[in-house]
Amino acid sequence: MLPKDDTPPAPPLRVWRHKSVLKLLADHQATDPVAVIRRLARAKVQEAKAALWHGPPFEPEHLASWMGITVQPAVEDIRADARIFPNANLDLMLEYNPATPRQRIRFSICHEIVHTFFSDCYEMERRRGQKADFDPVHAEFERLCNIGAAELLMPWDDFTERMNVRPIDGSLILRLQEDFDVSLEACLNRIVDLSPLPCAVVLFGEKYSKKELRLGAGSVREFDLGLASQRPKLRVAYSRNSTSWTAYIPKSKSVPLADSAVYKCIGRSSFANGKEYWDFLNLNLKVYATELPLVTQKSYPSVAAYIELV
Ligand SMILES: [Zn+2]
Repeated sequence: MLPKDDTPPAPPLRVWRHKSVLKLLADHQATDPVAVIRRLARAKVQEAKAALWHGPPFEPEHLASWMGITVQPAVEDIRADARIFPNANLDLMLEYNPATPRQRIRFSICHEIVHTFFSDCYEMERRRGQKADFDPVHAEFERLCNIGAAELLMPWDDFTERMNVRPIDGSLILRLQEDFDVSLEACLNRIVDLSPLPCAVVLFGEKYSKKELRLGAGSVREFDLGLASQRPKLRVAYSRNSTSWTAYIPKSKSVPLADSAVYKCIGRSSFANGKEYWDFLNLNLKVYATELPLVTQKSYPSVAAYIELV
């Protein structure tokens, strides 16, 4: 029998298909839209700071207002966190859903501001209402706006300066989150985006493996057979890594150790940490894990971990 092939899949070829992204590349005679968005966002931050925009925390509403965009809470259900659109006078209006958490509103306002970096922003907003609920091509455009939003809300120079004061640990992560008034997830993503170290953020959610499901885990049958009810393991739901991190982090893998910080943090309001060997990565790691705030009763994923090569 052949040994199990553990070769990580090749990274997907980046082919950008969204009309507005292609227009952005043509406008800037570029090939990498991520680099263009980062450059435009950083330039906007520098310009705004020169006009006395200050932080952290940086107020997205002040930035919008300085850019001539009117920001207001939506009075009706806009079926989104926020939206930006031109009114009859072609002035840009930005509405957000006031029922979402404050840190999410702050991020969403920045996200919508990034829409204006696209030269066909006005035309695009007209088309937006006609979009299907999930469109992978549109999702690639939205991901790009999230990259820009992080650049606006957590300017790289301010963030790096505060991140580099000492090695990353739970209290520094919380400190950065508080200083920049962002969600834990946004803060962790920003750390790995800007860190020169081999590190990653991994979100875990409780999930049965396919094999466990085949064996009836979580079903009524489990009780019929007199088996003790088995809780699903925490499995990788999402990961993002720094540029110097080289290991492939497969989705759906479970945390290898029962006493991992990933499990120990549950029920605590603070980070749990440990030096751990994760066999599915074949790596020794420094791990800082914490529960994610509960959004719904069945919040998924539920634990966030910052991992770094030892
Ligand atoms: Zn968007």
